[in-house]
Amino acid sequence: MSMLVRAGNLIDGTGTFAREDMGLLIANGRIADVFPWRESGPPSDEFIDAREATVLPGLIDVHVHPCMNPDPDAGTVREPMGVQAVRGVHNMREMLMSGITSIRTLGTAWELDFNLRDAIGQGLIPGPRMIAAGRGISMTGGHGHSFSIEADGPDQVRKAVRTCIRNGADVIKLFATGGVLTPCGIPGIPQLDLDELEAAVHEAHKHGIRLAAHAEGRRGVNDALAAGIDSIEHGYFLDNDEGIERLVRNGAWLVPTIMAYDLIANATAHGISSEAVTNAASALEYNTVGFRNAVDAGAKIAMGSDAGTPLNDHGRAWRELIFMVRNGMSPMQALVAATRGGADLLGMGQEIGTLEPGKAADLIVVNGDPLSDIRDIGRVSWVVKAGVVRRSEHDSVLFPRTI
Ligand SMILES: [Zn+2]
Repeated sequence: MSMLVRAGNLIDGTGTFAREDMGLLIANGRIADVFPWRESGPPSDEFIDAREATVLPGLIDVHVHPCMNPDPDAGTVREPMGVQAVRGVHNMREMLMSGITSIRTLGTAWELDFNLRDAIGQGLIPGPRMIAAGRGISMTGGHGHSFSIEADGPDQVRKAVRTCIRNGADVIKLFATGGVLTPCGIPGIPQLDLDELEAAVHEAHKHGIRLAAHAEGRRGVNDALAAGIDSIEHGYFLDNDEGIERLVRNGAWLVPTIMAYDLIANATAHGISSEAVTNAASALEYNTVGFRNAVDAGAKIAMGSDAGTPLNDHGRAWRELIFMVRNGMSPMQALVAATRGGADLLGMGQEIGTLEPGKAADLIVVNGDPLSDIRDIGRVSWVVKAGVVRRSEHDSVLFPRTI
């Protein structure tokens, strides 16, 4: 089975300049060739004519809650298991149709993400490739505890990591600090202690598994980095040079999830608790500075939407790129964060993230040019995953361009 794509504008995810009028030949689910277009191109079974559009790698969202309901009251954790499972099936389809071909899940009640991952892998339901954490690990009563294993002390944390891995985790999610949304969690206060974080890192790395830490606030971020965490999620209040220096020195990733709190901070009319609005607004104030400093310092940054949090629906996770650009990234930097960056963080840089020969054929076609206007990233007309068309320009799925 072969496919030919004619790209009026090609952004390949490597960060090099866009190229005009290019061809991509796909064979057996992989990119066989990328070449300047000439006449009709080589013969193929299928043809996508995107000469008036932009072709990019499928987007990678490294921070997703697949079964959460993005309603303003964030009440999903109380939804029954069956409802969350159905919601997850719906959300995974929405994400794929909107151009996200790979995700990392970071906290799902009942480890439903493992079931979604396996169902997608078996072709039972449509959805992105998935690196899944299952439940998170939090201290007793800590942030995210309602969908986590509660663990106190290095021994219990070690046991929790082993439990996650036994059950099928591809990545470990830790809650190093409080957060904006859990009522009991003052945002930014340390929760899991340094010795607990170190035990988790030691155990997961033994298995070759990476760890993501929900970390807000100076001390929590610094503790997570000192313990050797691979990615800092949110990093709100990362306004200090020490944290950013350590981030760069460790080669750790920052997943800023800007949209998650920006939507809440500006959402007084939507029925979100005033406590969450106040917390998010102060995070917004600090994080704008921290994110910009991290970008300037050359920190490794990947795109994570935190889809599932209030007002943050899975079908529009691409909006995070708009927030990244608003807060100081160039459109190309944001696109690389959402393609090659995500692939590298997932440890899948050899497989996905760029449109180069040998890679899996995960690509999207968008109308317009996201380098001129990053909002065009939401104008998806085609989605191809592993060389198979999952959405074509004829499908009547509408995604509003405005946010
Ligand atoms: Zn999250």
